[in-house]
Amino acid sequence: MKKECTIILKKNREKSVLLGHPWIFSGAVKEVRDYSEPGDICCVLSEDGRFLAKGYINKRSSIIVRILTFENIDINTRFIHRIITDALLFRKRIGSINSNAIRLLNGEGDFFPGLIIDRYDRGIVIQALTAGVQRLKGLIVDELKKQLDPAFIYERSATLASSFEGEGFTDGFLYGKIDGPVIIEEMGIRFLVDVKNGQKTGFFLDQRHNRGILGSLARGMEILNCFSYTAAFGIHALMGGAKRVTNIDSSPSAIEGARENLILNRINPESSPMIRADVFDFLREDKNLYDIVVLDPPRFASSKSELKQAARGYKDINMNAMRRLKKGGFLFTFSCSSLITPDLFQKIVFAAASDAGKSVKVVKKLHADVDHPVNLAHREGEYLKGLWLCIA
Ligand code: SAH
Repeated sequence: MKKECTIILKKNREKSVLLGHPWIFSGAVKEVRDYSEPGDICCVLSEDGRFLAKGYINKRSSIIVRILTFENIDINTRFIHRIITDALLFRKRIGSINSNAIRLLNGEGDFFPGLIIDRYDRGIVIQALTAGVQRLKGLIVDELKKQLDPAFIYERSATLASSFEGEGFTDGFLYGKIDGPVIIEEMGIRFLVDVKNGQKTGFFLDQRHNRGILGSLARGMEILNCFSYTAAFGIHALMGGAKRVTNIDSSPSAIEGARENLILNRINPESSPMIRADVFDFLREDKNLYDIVVLDPPRFASSKSELKQAARGYKDINMNAMRRLKKGGFLFTFSCSSLITPDLFQKIVFAAASDAGKSVKVVKKLHADVDHPVNLAHREGEYLKGLWLCIA
């Protein structure tokens, strides 16, 4: 039998592992033994030979090991059964989520780095984003079939898998099939989800709770929904009685998806113009004033080298959005770049307020919804942060 791969950390580099952080960077590794290919299961030992953890290794990635367990156990069918059972049980225990679209497993937040499992009604979409998870995919699919009896399991790994992880990341059905989009129902509102071509796995499940907040305050309001994608925020607002929601997105397919969602919910298109535009330009040129503005941009920073530029981008849109608000109006502003910490984001928004000459109250700090737990030892998992602000 082939020997299991082992990595030995440099002296005194075990601290983050002992604190439960699931990533080991290549700089902390003294020696790798019995490695054959990306995705091998490996044991992590301290320099003096103590067992620390088990995970999977990829020598091509700067995160050389992602940890699956701190126990010395086999990574097999039983392990996968336990992880998925725990994740499903957690979702049962966090109270009812008013939707049939739910994140069932949130990577590091559910102690399984590199794996995302989203449920859309009776269908499942998975992202197996590392070579290690690719190797375990068969076991994961079997377990999902057993526990959930899904109509289909679709994989969306091609675009998100890091180029460092290697080739072989694909999209496609792993089980069953559907032809068109899935219809989901979130708080009684229906949305079409294109699991094959939509963004992420088809829908931004993380914003569910925040969309609900907007819907609950929207009655009679004039709203500007920037980076609207398929208008999920906008439709929540309209179903909550908003007078008018202007949705802005640069992608033609997002605009088309938004139109279809309006029809699905029998909303009069006149109450919801869909404008294909760059939000940066739109906010600079628009002369209207709104009761509420939503800013939910894509990730502006994927690496440290992009941080400065990203901060400038956030500042620009926040400053211009504040200028478009009536007195007492609300700004819902988000960042989903995990490199921008909540603290830094608040600083950037503060600088924007200061340049816009506005006094601003923080009404509430916002996060991803409860089906997106964050591992307390893994700050990087807290990617989505938002502020609900009131502009004086
Ligand atoms: N708020 C949405 C998700 C937004 S995702 C929801 O709850 O479902 C970000 C969106 O921003 C994408 O649809 C993308 O097409 C759009 N986008 C990216 N850059 C843009 C830009 N500069 N101007 C306008 N839209 C942009």
